[in-house]
Amino acid sequence: MLSTMQDVPLTVTRILVHGMTIHGKSQVTTWTGEPEPQRRSFAEVGRRAVQLANALRDELGVTGDQRVATLMWNNSEHVETYLAVPSMGAVLHTLNLRLAPEQLIWVVNHAEDKIVVVNGSLLPLLAPLLPHLPTIEHVVVAGPGDRSVLDGAAPRVHEYEELLAGRPTTYDWPELDERQAAAMCYTSGTTGEPKGVVYSHRSIYLHSMQVNMAESMGLTDKDTTLVVVPQFHVNAWGLPHSTFMTGVNMLMPDRFLQPAPLAEMIERERPTHAAAVPTIWQGLLAEVTARPRDLSSMARVTIGGAACPPSLMEAYDKLGVRLCHAWGMTETSPLGTMANPPAGLTDEEEWPYRITQGRFPAGVEARLVGPAGDHLPWDGESAGELEVRGPWIAGAYYGGSDGESLRPEDKFSEDGWLKTGDVGVISDEGFLTLTDRAKDVIKSGGEWISSVALENAIMAHPDVAEAAVVAVPDDRWGERPLATVVLKEGATADYAALKAFLARTVAKWQLPERWTVIPAVPKTSVGKFDKKVIRKQYADGELDVTQL
Ligand code: AMP
Repeated sequence: MLSTMQDVPLTVTRILVHGMTIHGKSQVTTWTGEPEPQRRSFAEVGRRAVQLANALRDELGVTGDQRVATLMWNNSEHVETYLAVPSMGAVLHTLNLRLAPEQLIWVVNHAEDKIVVVNGSLLPLLAPLLPHLPTIEHVVVAGPGDRSVLDGAAPRVHEYEELLAGRPTTYDWPELDERQAAAMCYTSGTTGEPKGVVYSHRSIYLHSMQVNMAESMGLTDKDTTLVVVPQFHVNAWGLPHSTFMTGVNMLMPDRFLQPAPLAEMIERERPTHAAAVPTIWQGLLAEVTARPRDLSSMARVTIGGAACPPSLMEAYDKLGVRLCHAWGMTETSPLGTMANPPAGLTDEEEWPYRITQGRFPAGVEARLVGPAGDHLPWDGESAGELEVRGPWIAGAYYGGSDGESLRPEDKFSEDGWLKTGDVGVISDEGFLTLTDRAKDVIKSGGEWISSVALENAIMAHPDVAEAAVVAVPDDRWGERPLATVVLKEGATADYAALKAFLARTVAKWQLPERWTVIPAVPKTSVGKFDKKVIRKQYADGELDVTQL
């Protein structure tokens, strides 16, 4: 028997129309580096999105599921493309501006992008790539930046503001199938070619609702969120869509992502929430330690994309800022878990929950798979690879316009679950603790050592700014941990002292014998530790390693 309910498709169009009418007074504030930031209401951002849709159709010929790429910082214009492009039935492709040029060329060609909307400040990055991007017919430039680098470029060049000016402020939105492609994002691909994840209208809609639930970020129109996580990194964790659903004000840092302007933004605009990877919070902590600023408006911060060291959480607790740990992937839209502790606990009792990756929401089913393919119990001890499934989780990768979807065996199980490549344990209450990436685990004498646990223990030392631990070959044990450490400015701790500090909390057989101080931990394009680079530096003899 079928239900008697209306079958209304869940689309980005509905999010746009809802936000600009019901929450028309909420604001998108974009940092400009000028004394006053740019402020636009949701009504205005929505109206501009409608004008953009008209321009894309009438002037640039977007009539179907053409891909419209963005090479942009987090700002109002980027939010406008987020809303306009999917609503008209086209596909938004956010480009990671930190990718190597060859990777950018690869993803634009693979997605066959027709148009690229680019911030003026990023033209020096785009211009040299254009001769290698045959599918790009139009370049639309938004915001300040020298346009002359585009002189002689083959595609037609347009000014964003000129394109919008005088366009109609209504659009006859098409009735879309909710399963249709709305946006795409390529994984940062540390190994092999990047893989395209294509989000549907339905997945974005449902994911946005989950982001808005109290057990997740739970923001309302009384909140302002500082969206540091780039819009090219898994749709800024869904915030540009989820905020339009509930009227949460957005504070957008544009290109001002350094610790000093971030601290100034927080002090002046007083956001109540923020979202970013641990690297950003480490940098901001060093800044406010050197030059104290008031961050206390940010009652809640969502931190994820890489493991949050408990020491970082403690440091922010002291500043009145509560970091809430979340786990996710490009393939999971990204919200997979969030570490809001269960009700009724004291601060002390909450702590063991807060330092996990968090609990699965109803839309994410999880299972742990052991080395022999067996399903492991949720007992907080049995470690295996995490597999997930749900309505906002990828079931395949984009295979190109004339290819089939890709379902590589190492990424998808036979019964359709996503193999995350993350290794961890799940407690009987459904809280996930990750111990490693599958490819980063250290196998010493047949036992696993968690690189993440060692990193957290080293980073708890007051002299340490950052630490990354990788597996290196060892004649006796197969593999052993190598500790690479970044000391805080002026710090003097030596290796013996660090090892003695670790020995207080870490089992003796897990203590690293190999230590090296490095100026900075190499990072990927989205700010995660790039352990592949460290392993290579070690293999090539480039690190000055001390053996204890
Ligand atoms: P990406 O698709 O680039 O966002 O990368 C996803 C991967 O980042 C996950 O598979 C994890 O390995 C890692 N990751 C994301 N969030 C966390 C977290 N809270 N703790 C540990 N690792 C994380």
